[in-house]
Order: sequence, then structure tokens, then C-alpha cells
Amino acid sequence: MQKTISTYILYILLACVFTALLNVVHSLFVLHLPLTPSSFAIPLLAGFLFGYAFAHIKVLSRQLSEIAYTDSLTHIYNRLHFSRFLDIEIGKVKRYGGTFSIIFLDLDHFKSINDNYGHLIGDKILRCVTDIISSANRSADIFARYGGEEFIILTPSTDINGACAHAERLRKDIETYDFPIDRKVTCSFGVAEFDPAHDTAESITARADNALYLAKENGRNRVEHLP
Ligand code: GH3
Ligand code: MG
Ligand code: MG
Repeated sequence: MQKTISTYILYILLACVFTALLNVVHSLFVLHLPLTPSSFAIPLLAGFLFGYAFAHIKVLSRQLSEIAYTDSLTHIYNRLHFSRFLDIEIGKVKRYGGTFSIIFLDLDHFKSINDNYGHLIGDKILRCVTDIISSANRSADIFARYGGEEFIILTPSTDINGACAHAERLRKDIETYDFPIDRKVTCSFGVAEFDPAHDTAESITARADNALYLAKENGRNRVEHLP
């Protein structure tokens, strides 16, 4: 909100100063007219209108890109934006070396949470899980909602051991969190490390997804990884 107001003020001020200066220069040096109050009033009004229009376009385009890049329920990145970060990270690792890992997670038996407590509580649980993960992640981690009750994390400069340790920490944080329902909420995790010689964005994502599937198969509320 504060950013929006300052955008309006900045654009209006700039436009007012610009149109007033332009009119002063034009009146004095081109038309050779003396300055009167209307030499300022009219350009200031024009500047106000121009500045307001520009600021409005700027604010609308910022809001549009936020809508395009973020998930409306959890306010974290959406899958589309995540895939851009993933492509950038792959480019970096292929060019400069290093590594990164992907953590896929999915809430366990979430359908029955919705069925028993309703969709609004289900939404609340999704937001709680988002907050737990956001506060445990490092600032460099890229965290996104992949779909319904599935989330994905890109952990830069992190090998499979580091990523599994992080996933295990998240698993415990979620398992021990006091959710607003009278039962435990748990998540299953699948982890994969990027292999620059063979992997693409699709193949590393598929491997993490397969590891998640394994975690579900092996009883849920656990972390699995695939080499
Ligand atoms: P599993 O442990 O195998 O993952 O079981 P599950 O019940 O979590 O998986 P399933 O795919 O059967 O159900 C996912 C549910 O997530 C169904 C869908 O209604 C719910 N869901 C997806 N998106 C949202 C959402 O935005 N809000 C709410 N409240 N529920 C959602
Ligand atoms: Mg699920
Ligand atoms: Mg699912």
C-alpha cells in the first residue's frame, strides 16, 4: 500500500516539475512571453493528470505481474514462476558448476481433512504449511505451490544430503505444529539432486516426484530420495 502511494506521489511530482519547466522555457525563450500564474497552473494540472495516469499504469502492471507469478491462496510463487527459476538455476550450474536439489512435498490424506473439517479449514492448513516452510527455508531457496496440496522447493548449492536433511527438518516441523484441528497434519517428501551431465528441468522434477511417490508408498510422513 505504502509502495503504491509513493509510486503515485513520485510520478505526479516528476510530471508536474517536467511540464512546468517545459512551459517556463517555452514561454520565456520561444514565445518570449512574460510568466503569469496561468503559466504554472495549466502545466501543473496537465502534469498532475499525466503523472496520475502513468502511476496508475505502473501500479496496475505491478499488480498484474504479481497475479501472474504468485499463488492467490498462499502468496508464494506459482508453478509457472518456479519453472523460470529452475531454468535459470540449471543454466548457472551447467555454466559455472556447483549443484542444487529439488524437494517435492505433498500433504498426506488431505482429502480427508477437507471432507472432515471443510474446505475453509483445508485452505487454512495449506497457508499454515506454507508459513512453516517459508520460515524454515533459507532466503535463497525458491518455494512454490506446484498444484492443489503439492509444493516444491529449489535449494541452490545443496547436494542430496543437505536437501534430505532440510526436508527431514521440514517434515518434523509440520508433524509437531499445533494446527487448528484435532489431528496431526503430515507431509511426504521426495528429493532429487541435479545431475548436470544428464538432467533437464523435466527429468529432475520427475525424479523428485517419483521419490515423493515412493514416500507415499512407504507409509507417508517420510522423506525419500532417488539418485
Ligand atoms: P495422499 O496422502 O495420497 O496425498 O492423499 P490426499 O488425500 O492428500 O490426495 P488426493 O489427491 O486424493 O487429494 C488431494 C485433495 O486436495 C483433493 C482436493 O480437493 C484438495 N485440494 C486441492 N487444492 C485445494 C485447495 O486449494 N484448498 C483445499 N481446501 N483443498 C484443496
Ligand atoms: Mg496429498
Ligand atoms: Mg497431491
